[in-house]
Amino acid sequence: MRLIFAKKLGFCSGVRRAISLAQSIPTRDNKKGTVATPVYTLGPLIHNPQEVKRLERLGVKVISSLNQIKTGTLIVPSHGLPQSILKKIEKTRLKLIDATCPFVKRAQLLAKSLHEKGYHVVIVGQKSHPEVISLLSFANGEASVVETPGDVEKINASKKTGVISQTTQSVESFEKIVRRLKIKNKRFKIHNTICKETSQRQKEAKGLAEKADLMIVIGGKNSANTTRLYNICKKVTRTYHIELPEELRPGWFNKKGVVGITSGTSTPDWIIKSVIKNLGNPPHLNPLPKGEC
Ligand code: SF4
Repeated sequence: MRLIFAKKLGFCSGVRRAISLAQSIPTRDNKKGTVATPVYTLGPLIHNPQEVKRLERLGVKVISSLNQIKTGTLIVPSHGLPQSILKKIEKTRLKLIDATCPFVKRAQLLAKSLHEKGYHVVIVGQKSHPEVISLLSFANGEASVVETPGDVEKINASKKTGVISQTTQSVESFEKIVRRLKIKNKRFKIHNTICKETSQRQKEAKGLAEKADLMIVIGGKNSANTTRLYNICKKVTRTYHIELPEELRPGWFNKKGVVGITSGTSTPDWIIKSVIKNLGNPPHLNPLPKGEC
């Protein structure tokens, strides 16, 4: 069996930044006199349950509502928060640390400015995803969310249209939807806000799948970008999406086969390493933290 690896595995820059911000806040008093305050994230910081649990063990707790806390430090997740919540936080005594990914922030600001300039904002993305909910709020809740080319028919074409995308959207589906929009409305502005790290991984995953007999996509089942990698690969070859090594099944593998390995942008190196440590030894991953697997 031969293993082939995506060049980009593990965290993207936005997730790495969010994790390092979270880890930089003292969660315990120390001898130098630093007094720790409780640290929270409103919803998971990133979409990887195991990494979120690891952070919880370090003292970064996930809450589901602002009403649960009165004091402490609150971290905005990498995929952003709705404007109304950010305004509410400003009125509290909480210390705010903004870990919104700069690419998500750019999409938020575009949603805001297009709306202010009189465009009807169209967001290509998944309605229920927290990033899309946040983008919608930056367009004052007056945007249309388009998940499929069929949704384009429901859009009011009387106004000029400004198109943005969920940062982890598939390039292929964004382009399909934009083509439909162009037929429906001639007055539009398009901002492809899919982040480069996502589109590069999608392209690479497809190329890898074309060379592999089997693809293993590693990452949170709640991670939109990991699920997209899975969907791209499964169109090309037999593909499994796993979160942890325990999910691997010996029956999937064939001694002479080529196995491609890729991961979502929120999958930590320690999980990727634990998945493949019996199968090979990729050179470009950080060492396993002690006791993680
Ligand atoms: S996938 Fe892209 S937009 Fe999302 S956190 Fe990573 S760098 Fe930012």
